[in-house]
Amino acid sequence: MNGVGFAKGMWVTLRHFLETYVDDVRYGFRKYAPDLNNFEVRQGVEAQGAFTVQYPDEKLAMPERFRFVPFLVVENYDHEDRPGKDWCTSCGICSKVCPPQCIWIVRSNDPETGRPVPEPEAFFIDIDICMNCGFCAEFCPFDAIKMDHDYELASYDRTTNHIFDKDKLSKEFRYWNTIAPTRAVEEAEARGGWEHKDAQKEARRGGSSRDNKATEAREEKREAVRARKEAAAAPETPAPVAEAPKPAAAAQDDEEEKRKRREAALRRKAARAAKRDEESDS
Ligand code: SF4
Ligand code: SF4
Repeated sequence: MNGVGFAKGMWVTLRHFLETYVDDVRYGFRKYAPDLNNFEVRQGVEAQGAFTVQYPDEKLAMPERFRFVPFLVVENYDHEDRPGKDWCTSCGICSKVCPPQCIWIVRSNDPETGRPVPEPEAFFIDIDICMNCGFCAEFCPFDAIKMDHDYELASYDRTTNHIFDKDKLSKEFRYWNTIAPTRAVEEAEARGGWEHKDAQKEARRGGSSRDNKATEAREEKREAVRARKEAAAAPETPAPVAEAPKPAAAAQDDEEEKRKRREAALRRKAARAAKRDEESDS
C-alpha cells in the first residue's frame, strides 16, 4: 500500500533517535568513566542510538589494520645488543614499489672505501604525497617499515614539516607491538622469532649480535694488520743503525694514522660480511 514503506522507514529513524536517549539515561555520567570502558562499548556493534564523537576530546579506537603514513621500525632503545639499530637495510624495495614515489633513501657508505653499508644514512617520506596504500610495508623483506595509526599530523606548514626524515619516522619495535599485537605475532612466527633476521642469524652462528661480531672481527683484523706491517717493515730497517727517536707528537700522529688505516680495513671487512649476509637473505 502506498506510504507503508515510507512509514516503516520513518519508524526506524524515530526508534534510532529514541534509543539515543535511552542509552544516555543508561550510562548517565558514567559515559566517560575510564575504568568502565563505556565509551568503547558505545562505539561497538552493541551500541544503540546515534551519538557524536566529541573529537578531539574523544577518539574512536583504531582497528589494528588501520593505516596512515608509514614509520620505520628500530630496535628497542633498551635492547641489550642493538639499541636503536635500524631494521631497515636500505635495500630500496619500498621506494621502488611506492606508487606515487614519495620515498627517498640514501644508503650508508663506508667513509674510507665508499662501499655500501646495509643501513639507511637518510630516509625521507613526503607524507603529503603518500596515499597510505601500505605497499611499502607489504613488500619490505625485513619488516622494517610499518603503517602507523597516528593520524594527527596536520600543521600550518605543508612544506618541510610534511617531509618526514629518518629521525621523525623511526619508532621502537615495541610501539609496533603495541598498536598491532596480532600482526606482530604473525610476523614474528613467519620470521622465526621476535628478533630481526640479522640478529637471529648472528645468534645461530653463536654470536650475540652483528655488532658484537663486527667488534670481534675488528679486533682480529687489527692484530693481523699489525703483524703484517711489522713483518713488512722489518727488512727495510737497517739493523746496525739505531733509528732516531721521533718527537713525541710525530710518533703520536704516526700511531693515529695507523689506527685509522686499521679501522678502515676492519670497516671494509664488516661491510663485506654484511653484504654477504644480505645477499644470502634475499
Ligand atoms: S624495503 Fe624495508 S629494508 Fe628495504 S629500504 Fe624499504 S624499509 Fe628498508
Ligand atoms: S603507504 Fe604507499 S604511498 Fe605511502 S609511502 Fe608506502 S608505498 Fe608509498
